Amino acid sequence: MIIVPLGVASATPTATRHLSSVAVWREGDVHLFDCGENAQMRMLQAGLKRSKIENIFISHFDVDHFSGLIGLISTLQLQRRDKTLTIVGPKGIKEYVEWNLKFAGVDLNYDLNFKEVEEGFEEERVVDHDEYYVEARPLNHTKFCIGYRFQEKDSPGKVDAEKAEKMGITKDEQFKALKAGEDVELEDGTIIKSYDIVGHPRPGDSFAYITDTKYCPNSVKLAMNTNILYHEATFSESLADKAAETGHSTSADAARVANEAQTKLLVISHFSARYTNPFVLLREARAKFFPAWLATELRPIYTDPSQEKGIVKQKVYLKEIDESKGSSDSRDKRSDDKKRFRKRRSSDSSSRGSSNRGRTRRDSSDNERRKRRTKAPQSRENEGRDNRDQGTSRPPKHITPRTPFDDFDRF
Ligand SMILES: [Zn+2]
Repeated sequence: MIIVPLGVASATPTATRHLSSVAVWREGDVHLFDCGENAQMRMLQAGLKRSKIENIFISHFDVDHFSGLIGLISTLQLQRRDKTLTIVGPKGIKEYVEWNLKFAGVDLNYDLNFKEVEEGFEEERVVDHDEYYVEARPLNHTKFCIGYRFQEKDSPGKVDAEKAEKMGITKDEQFKALKAGEDVELEDGTIIKSYDIVGHPRPGDSFAYITDTKYCPNSVKLAMNTNILYHEATFSESLADKAAETGHSTSADAARVANEAQTKLLVISHFSARYTNPFVLLREARAKFFPAWLATELRPIYTDPSQEKGIVKQKVYLKEIDESKGSSDSRDKRSDDKKRFRKRRSSDSSSRGSSNRGRTRRDSSDNERRKRRTKAPQSRENEGRDNRDQGTSRPPKHITPRTPFDDFDRF
């Protein structure tokens, strides 16, 4: 599964943060959790196809969490979608969508399958697919709000075909029986044990989406042993009173849920616009739980990087503005950089354990790269000029967002 944050702002968007929405990519399908304004644009920018959306889960009816829904439904209509779209949310979601479509005179050429959850429910499996299910529980906000857990079902272990053939298994039925956990008797009476041939079942990945809420036991239940817990952290500890009053969590609350649920990775999001630098929130979360990351818009989080790397193609490149150079060959340069970057990562993989060490290395090699990049054109340009001119030429300006996590930089 690949988790792509599309908007990490709380109630009001800022110049750099969009309203709440997260895309979960799984085996080619996309599942959207909340659909704030601009979610469809952010999907496009993240390289995720809107036509691949299977399910949309709305947490609650604060406008920042569903304001992009009608626009997205309309785009899918214009794209001539013909497969059913499932929309899950609090009771009223069906009326809201249908009223809007009627108002605008839109007659959809695809079906909407609504799954409404009524206030007062305890726990419900809102989607049940052959390979995954989605569980919903009520959270504790100022209005009815639902938390979700996306859980892949365990997949059966792999059959070691080579070994099986060596042991004398040849027929399809025999393979099927072994895979189903049954032992097989060969003609000569030898018994082939299923566990000799079939590997361990692979436990399914899991993702919990918990926003907007104060700390509550249901958050812990939803997040129990998840691979990724995506939790709101609207405020820092110093505004705990405000968090309680508005039905939100502090970053410490998010860490508490992560600890109690024994999740593998905590990702915090839904930052109040007052934090122009959300690292203050991350620092607080990390003091209580590790590993914890900041949700960064359009930066995918992989549950299985070795398998999933390269699946999401970034459509919008964060270009580097090199003022001392024309942009004619920026495309080539970019792919060049990518190669260099990849190379360094693979040779450097042993240092992944320590984030601090990794970071220093990255910074220093970034600097080296920057130097190399600017050196080549400048040396040509500055031929014949004196050294003073070279000293005053402005360094290239980078607009890559700053993040201390090597793990985010996978493009
Ligand atoms: Zn919100």
